Parts: sequence; C-alpha cells; structure tokens
Amino acid sequence: MSAISLISRSAAPGSGRADAFGAFDYAGDSLHDRPIGGAPALSVRARSEALANDPALREAYATARRVRRAIRPVMTVEVTATCNLFCEGCCYFHDDFEAKPEPEDVGEWRAFFQSQWDDGKRYAIFHGAEPALKQDRLMAAGELFERGIIYTNGTLRLHDSIPFVRNVSIWGDEDSTEKVRGGNTYRKALRNFENDPRARFSIIVSAQNYRQLPDIVADLVAAGVSATISYFSPSYSYLDKLSAEAPNDNRFYRFSRSDDHMMMSQEDFEQADAIIAELTSKHPKTLLQGLDYNKWLTAPGSRYALDEDGFAAECAVRHRSAHELYGTDLKPIEAKCALADTDCAHCRIVPASTTSVLHNARLYAGSMEDFLFWIETAFQAGRFFLRDDDAEVWRGAPPPPAAWREHFGVGADAG
Ligand code: SF4
Repeated sequence: MSAISLISRSAAPGSGRADAFGAFDYAGDSLHDRPIGGAPALSVRARSEALANDPALREAYATARRVRRAIRPVMTVEVTATCNLFCEGCCYFHDDFEAKPEPEDVGEWRAFFQSQWDDGKRYAIFHGAEPALKQDRLMAAGELFERGIIYTNGTLRLHDSIPFVRNVSIWGDEDSTEKVRGGNTYRKALRNFENDPRARFSIIVSAQNYRQLPDIVADLVAAGVSATISYFSPSYSYLDKLSAEAPNDNRFYRFSRSDDHMMMSQEDFEQADAIIAELTSKHPKTLLQGLDYNKWLTAPGSRYALDEDGFAAECAVRHRSAHELYGTDLKPIEAKCALADTDCAHCRIVPASTTSVLHNARLYAGSMEDFLFWIETAFQAGRFFLRDDDAEVWRGAPPPPAAWREHFGVGADAG
C-alpha cells in the first residue's frame, strides 16, 4: 500500500504538484491523461464528420442524447441524516458534521417534491445517510417523479411501489465487509435485491478489495443483478487523519493506518483496471463498466481540473440551476456538492464523473477518440441512472457500455 507520507489533499491547478496517485497534468493532451475541463473545447468538425459518415453512429449518438435529456434537471435531496452502518472514511459523517432538522410530517416532504416538480425538476436523487430508513418520503416522491435513483447500503428492502433505481453499494466481499462497513451486510444486500431489474449494485473499489472483484462479480452473477464500479473517494477528514497518523476511533476511522487503509496507489489502479477489463469481457451483462471510461477513471492525477479552492470546476453535480441540492431540512445546502467533505482531487465516483463528461459534450467533440469516449460514458451514465425498461430512452435493449459499438453496429473502422 501507499506510504502514508505521500497521501495529500488536493493541489492547486497548474501547480504541477505530484502525489502518491500521480501528478496533476493540466497540459496533458491524451484523452486518458486529461482531467474534465483540463483542455478547452475544440472545433466540433470531427464529430460532425463522423456522424455524417456512419448512420449507426448517428443512432448511438441520438440514444446518448436521450440519456442526457432524461437525467436533467435534477433535484438531489438528503432523505435522512440517520444511518445504520459505519463505513470507513464515510464522506457524509465527517468530523464537522451537524445534523439538520428533518420534517417528520410526510406532508411537508410531499409539498417539497411538488414544488420541485413545479420548478421543472424531472430527475430525483435520494441520498443521506441511509434513505431506506425513511421510505414514506421516497414513496411521496414516487407519486410525482418517474425517474430517480436511491443510494442505499442494501440492508433494507425498498417498498415495491417506489419506482426508482436502487443503487446498492458494496464495499468488499463477505469476509471483508464487516471490517470496512462496521456490519456484515454483504449477503443481506444480495438477498434483498436478488433478481431485481431496478437494482444496480455499485462496487466501491478500494485498496482493501480490488483483488476480491472476481469473487464479488461471481456473486452478483448468481444473484441476477448488474453493477458499475466507483473508486473509494476520500474525504478531507480521512486524508488528514491518515497523513497525521491520527488514532483510530469507533466510528468512521476504525482501522486505517499507514500500512492498512483504503487509498489506492497508481499500481493498484492499474491492476484493478486489468481485472475489470477481464471481468467485463466475461460478464458483459453483469459488469456495466465501459473499458475506455474505466481506463480514464483509473489514470493518474485528479480527474477534474480544479479551481482556486481545489474544487472541480466542471463537475456536473455541484449546486447549479440544472442540479439543485437540498439537505434534510429541505433547504439548499451550502457545500460544494452532496459529497460535502470529499476531496475533488481524489473523487472517482461514477455519478459525478459520468455526468460531468455527459454534460460537457463540447469538450469531447474535437476528435474521434474523444467523441467515442463521450458516447461510451453517456451509456455508462445511462445504465447507472436509468432503469433498463425506460423505453422512452432506450427504445429496445439498453447497450452494454463496454460493447456499445457492437450493439449499434458501428463500423469496426469507426475509431
Ligand atoms: S462530486 Fe463533489 S467531490 Fe466529487 S468532483 Fe464533484 S464537486 Fe468534487
């Protein structure tokens, strides 16, 4: 594992500073080296020519654009500040966390959702702590919103009437989950969502678990569910404690120390990428991870160009008119994003990175390589945020992100 002295917080843009996870190369011109927003938009001529020459590519592009339309404008709301687990390095319960009041009357939640709907929001994101602990609020949202996603730890079944994608997090295999999450939820989560087409498991890959991926994916295959892969994205608190060699506690920093922690080195990322590529080719219906996207997500350095505060300037999930964030008190949150304490320089989660590429199409239209990456990433986002039976978007079977060209019949020489 990485030496503790090399673990750092984010660096300022243009500093050229390197850390254990790679230098922040804002001048890099290769697709995989380039952070989102790290290079200006170029002429869209390459995209226009590619589309003019290939009808199958035009169909794929039209589908990708429907994905983009379907997941905006967004309301993200913290459903509750209560959780039943203690995940190591949790980005929600950081040291400065103060719970806000939560309306207990579901009527207040219903009125809030109505106001969001009237304001034009059409995609709903429910996170928390653990939203499944307050299902009456989710059911109230389901009376209005057709599309949405619930980030859940999988310990509780969700009521069948709730229409949203169930994004069930996994932090390791059966033997390691208790260490990392403070409770052995692994089998329970698989049982609770077995064969549920609305479930999309989210494997949070870290230094603790990437070697377990073959066994985890085998269990997902047996449970009849599919999954995407995000990488452990540390909070400022976690990074500070690790580099200060702070004592462990009995909450969200129970075991980490210099020789046993969650952070992946660049060598770990490269090994994980190779494992995932092999697993995706063996189980394309289970592991919904684009190969080019995963290679980009595991490349060295920040995946975002950072502003003067060290925040991801082009991150699509920051509070903006097209993506508004609300706390459990149903008021706008002041933090940079829903992952308040997460360091943008180390953020490698699917929802933020895919939508940031998707909604920055102008940055990926200047070359064929960029454009194909943009389409793959659009399908990665679509398979994460949208149900497979969303006929308005998919108009048939949804494409596997790693095999979207074959799915649409895009010519082998298109790249
Ligand atoms: S999701 Fe939050 S932590 Fe991650 S890059 Fe975006 S703004 Fe930064």
